[in-house]
Amino acid sequence: MSGRYCAIQVDLDGLWVIEKLSGRSVPLETDPVFYDGTERLLRLFEEFGVKATFFVVAKDLESGNKLNLVRRIISSGHEIASHGMSHGYITMLDDDEARREIAGSKEAIDNALGLKIAGFKAAGFAARREVVPFLEEAGYRYDSSVLPTSLGPVMEAVLKVRYRKWGMATAPRGPYVPARKDIFRRGESAIVELPVTTMPLLRFPAHFSYASAMGLTYASITRPHKFSRYVTYLFHPLDLVDRAAMVGGKVLPKTRISFDGRVALARAMLEHFVTGFNIVTSREMAQIVRSKHAAA
Ligand SMILES: [Zn+2]
Repeated sequence: MSGRYCAIQVDLDGLWVIEKLSGRSVPLETDPVFYDGTERLLRLFEEFGVKATFFVVAKDLESGNKLNLVRRIISSGHEIASHGMSHGYITMLDDDEARREIAGSKEAIDNALGLKIAGFKAAGFAARREVVPFLEEAGYRYDSSVLPTSLGPVMEAVLKVRYRKWGMATAPRGPYVPARKDIFRRGESAIVELPVTTMPLLRFPAHFSYASAMGLTYASITRPHKFSRYVTYLFHPLDLVDRAAMVGGKVLPKTRISFDGRVALARAMLEHFVTGFNIVTSREMAQIVRSKHAAA
């Protein structure tokens, strides 16, 4: 197990984020996805002794109830990082708007919670080639936006978004120090990139949300192998929400696995990681990668 690291991550996308993809708007506070899904993830992480990294959208901290829940996440020993200001896709913003998502969200989260967060993950894995200086200026230590997958066009279709700048298919699969001019290439900058894990060769996304949408066979084929040195494994609150029981009957993305099946799959995945890897927060993984880079 020594020398193998796994960072469990959660993108705290609430109902308003999911509905925004379909052009609908719902109030920030009325959000069973955010509350129920996050509570269930917290219980599972406690059961397995996992300290995870929760990427929060700064706008959600305007809600007192959500702020309280995020404070409980912190008091349970988890890391908080940024998932942007308002879940805007960096690739579709001009430079000033991109800075607001990146630097503005760090400032808002730091101020609301009295912390100094270290990490950023772009909404929708929409990493943009030129974004490293923005991350450096804002004072981040790591980014976890790159999804080095061959399935960019498919994901664009599924998420109904045109990212325009998919440069991810050829990005390194494991963590790296990116070039200042190009987040998809190795180089020298003050940031560490922790790509969201994809499977070797075919580079299909390996994270839980994708697996639960695609089914159990896909989940087992893409399960990050115990020989991987570094794994980042991503959940969303929606993964662990009982959609049938949700008030309001919102139209949510389809999943091939039942609610009970998803909870069982989450347990199996966490068991797999705690027995095969050192579980670290994303911040800790970035520090390990940075010190190895400095020593090399
Ligand atoms: Zn998101």
